[in-house]
Amino acid sequence: MTVKAIGAYAGDKPLEPMDISRRPVGPHDVGIEIAFCGVCHSDIHQVRSEWAGTLYPCVPGHEIVGRVSAVGAHVTSHKVGDLVGVGCIVNSCKRCDDCSDGLENYCDHMVGTYNGPTPDAPGHTLGGYSQQIVVHERYVLRISHPEDQLAAVAPLLCAGITTYSPLRHWNVGPGHKVGVVGIGGLGHMGIKLANAMGAHEVVVSRNADEMAVHAKSLDFILNTVAAPHDLDAFFALLKRDGTMTLVGAPATPHPSPEVFSLIMKRRSLAGSMIGGIPETQEMLNFCAKHGIVADIEMIRADGINEAYERMLKGDVKYRFVIETASLAA
Ligand SMILES: [Zn+2]
Ligand SMILES: [Zn+2]
Repeated sequence: MTVKAIGAYAGDKPLEPMDISRRPVGPHDVGIEIAFCGVCHSDIHQVRSEWAGTLYPCVPGHEIVGRVSAVGAHVTSHKVGDLVGVGCIVNSCKRCDDCSDGLENYCDHMVGTYNGPTPDAPGHTLGGYSQQIVVHERYVLRISHPEDQLAAVAPLLCAGITTYSPLRHWNVGPGHKVGVVGIGGLGHMGIKLANAMGAHEVVVSRNADEMAVHAKSLDFILNTVAAPHDLDAFFALLKRDGTMTLVGAPATPHPSPEVFSLIMKRRSLAGSMIGGIPETQEMLNFCAKHGIVADIEMIRADGINEAYERMLKGDVKYRFVIETASLAA
């Protein structure tokens, strides 16, 4: 099946309309009519080949929401007409310890929603900046938010789970004081989620005076900044046994920490990458229950290049979402 998409033929070329093919819906597949796709910072890195190994043509997009248009004969978890989402993962080995534990995000054979290996044409996966996608049922999430919130649900599929998973793993809850570093697509979700989990959340700036107020007071820091920066200034905010978890992925290393920042108060430095499929479903259910969606600005597909430029200037509050119906025009 041929569908319309927007993507790039090379790292130094702007995104442009293109036709791509989707595989027939197999016995365990779900066919999805995409309604909206969020625009993640990873999309820019990948499409411009700023991380090694981008394959072209590249169609980004891993914050996908839409409606089921077809299901394979053996599909039990979804039916035609359901509102569903697809995040960063469209396949994994399904057998290793990580997959068995529902942590497909850590499977050594995880297949990303775009730029991942697949037998389907053209030999690598193509993402959600497109009209339709076909995905194995295991990696398709149910959405129970009201339909009029669907566009604002899209960013939950990457930004939402990337911040939810570490907050859960490090048991953030009532009475905790949580710092969030970097208030963009990820950070603004971290604040909403930490708040809904009962934590007292604090926006951590790089302003020294504001930071001093919070010295040695935080239980947990969610650091979403994707550029190299001094981590020691933030460790000074953690109290004894506190943890700072990094979810941003800079292309070059951070210049710190100084080991004394860690040993003086038995502090921990950790990292976390998106989340597993069961946890992503748990996150979507949690957000529906608490009325949480992302703050978005809707764009047409042909506005994507301008949107990238604005993202690089930090000029979006806090996530662009493509209305994929605009691809048909
Ligand atoms: Zn993402
Ligand atoms: Zn696996």
